[in-house]
Amino acid sequence: MIAILKNGTTPEQKNHLIQWLKKQNLDVHVSEGKQVTILGLVGDTSRVDMELLCSLEIVESVKRVSEPFKQANRKFHPKDTIVEAGSARIGGGYFAMIAGPCSVESEEQIVAVAKAVKESGATMLRGGAFKPRTSPYAFQGMGPEGLRLLELAKQETGLPIVTEIMNINTLELFDNVDVIQVGARNMQNFDLLKELGKTKKAILLKRGLANTLQELLMSAEYIMSEGNENIILCERGIRTFETYTRNTMDLSAIPVLHELSHLPVVADPSHATGKSRLVSSMACAAVAAGADGLMIEVHNDPEHALCDGAQSLTPAQFDDVSRRVRAIREAL
Ligand code: PEP
Ligand code: MN
Repeated sequence: MIAILKNGTTPEQKNHLIQWLKKQNLDVHVSEGKQVTILGLVGDTSRVDMELLCSLEIVESVKRVSEPFKQANRKFHPKDTIVEAGSARIGGGYFAMIAGPCSVESEEQIVAVAKAVKESGATMLRGGAFKPRTSPYAFQGMGPEGLRLLELAKQETGLPIVTEIMNINTLELFDNVDVIQVGARNMQNFDLLKELGKTKKAILLKRGLANTLQELLMSAEYIMSEGNENIILCERGIRTFETYTRNTMDLSAIPVLHELSHLPVVADPSHATGKSRLVSSMACAAVAAGADGLMIEVHNDPEHALCDGAQSLTPAQFDDVSRRVRAIREAL
């Protein structure tokens, strides 16, 4: 971190600031110019309150030269992390195809979809039991019964299961869940992230609707700082001024996250577009951009789905996407 001091700073003021910084366990390298003084701060600057430093009367500006996330940072961990979940692996060349309905609705539905997507090459089954809905009057998910049905589908197919947690008080219900999803709306629920960090479960961390990539990585850092390194990052589209699609899929997030971090990156073209007919193109584009996996919503009867029917593929459409994705992966 570099701090530039204002012209006219007195030696007393400067020394006072240097002592204050040293008390924070930082080495301070001073470079005196004719007009300005530059302080180079060396050490663990992740705990430095940049805004506070910036607000000091004698400070002109402050610039970070290293990212505030350490454990998620590729600089300190150059090799790709491979996350294991049941029989599935993701990252470092392992590709995960996560598919299933937005919400678990019945035994028949989840078991039928699980069998169909497995047949088409899915490596994990998704399905929401606790649903974060915009309206309190919309279907809120089956709750614990939904988790039970997911476990049943796992027994029938062997597919590891991915499902969302909304409240840390329900954590004990997730014992047989292979990957716990943190949804976009909870990406910055820091208490939830810290508690998940104390588990050894694989976590699928979705990017918030209006969050930067650095914020996403800081949320991953919250989980990692508590000891859990099994994190899969997920780009699921962000809010922009465009209204044609449900969100705007930020494809560049995939190579950027790979550049900045060693964690695997999944793309969710279903929530990113909100329209089933756009899912195939964006799934292919994400794979071409280097995604380590895809998460795609599939329903046996999208027209009657209790949640996200408009963006859900039929099993036959999913089969087609799967083939296209395989072809692209082979070409790469
Ligand atoms: C979901 O995966 O069904 C979901 C609610 O996703 P998001 O948190 O990305 O909106
Ligand atoms: Mn959904």
